[in-house]
This record gives sequence, structure tokens and C-alpha cells, in this order.
Amino acid sequence: MNVTFRCPHCDQIGRVEFDAQTVELACPQCQSKWPVPGGAVTAEKLTQCLVCPSTELYIRKDFSQQLGVAIVVVGFAISSVFWFYRMPIWTYAVLFATALIDVVLYLVVGNVLHCYRCQAQYRGVPGLEDHAAFNLETHEKHRQQRIRLEQAAQTKSQAVGEAAPDRQPGRV
Ligand SMILES: [Zn+2]
Ligand SMILES: [Zn+2]
Repeated sequence: MNVTFRCPHCDQIGRVEFDAQTVELACPQCQSKWPVPGGAVTAEKLTQCLVCPSTELYIRKDFSQQLGVAIVVVGFAISSVFWFYRMPIWTYAVLFATALIDVVLYLVVGNVLHCYRCQAQYRGVPGLEDHAAFNLETHEKHRQQRIRLEQAAQTKSQAVGEAAPDRQPGRV
């Protein structure tokens, strides 16, 4: 199984493999390491995000929305050509085929587990189906929390900036 995440230290996107025996994760970009919460990964389930470490996770189809839209747009463009040449059967055939490709793709792709809080994505994890689907309320809760944290960090850095001149010498 693997996790794709935004590193909390260097802000880069990385992907690392892990298993139930993994005790720490390391960022492939900046090499910073952090411990994996105990019991987060079992043979049956991933109970906790290994990056942030929130316990609120949701599953969704590992299907890019852009790809789905792109297929529809291409199908629509091709069908317009047939429509232009007054070939209605081909027009509808292309539209139908486009929709079918989208449906088939959607059905064959696997699930991916997402962390609400840090947006980490887990693939190949056991027990994926035990997790709940996306919940807007939970998502909103984490979004608000993120905004508050960012604001707090901003106020803090401003405060530090103002307090900087009379900082105690020797302190870093
Ligand atoms: Zn990093
Ligand atoms: Zn997370």
C-alpha cells in the first residue's frame, strides 16, 4: 500500500510505500521523518492518517473528474462532426459510446482513501470498503479548522515580527 501526501515540512507532494510494520514515514523530497501512530495500520484496516494524524477518512473512486469531463468533451466534439454531415445515427452512437466509456472507467477503477484534514491519499489499503463515503459536513469542519489555523499562524508570525527587536539574546 502507499500514501500520496503533501509533506508538512517542505510542502512538496510525495508518495511512499508502507505496511503494517512501518514505524515511521519519511518524506522522499526533504527526508524529514515522523513516527507512524501506533496501531494506525493493521492487517485489516487503516484507522488513522499517517501524516496528520486524523482519524477521519473517506473513500472515493480513484477516478479523475478532469478525465471524465475530457472524455465527454471529446465525444461531444466528434458527435458534432457527424451531426454536421447529417449522420444522426453516428451522432447518437458516439454520444452513447462516450457515456459508456465513462461508466466503464468509473466501474473498473478502484477506491482511494482520503484524509479530510491533510488530503493524503491511500491506495492498496485493506478494508477500504469499511470506511464511509465523503461527508460534506466533516469536510466543512476540517476546512474551517484549516482556515482558523492559517489565520492563527499569521497573527502569530506578525506578533513574532513585532516582538523580534527585544528578543532575548541567545534564544533561537
Ligand atoms: Zn518534505
Ligand atoms: Zn491526514
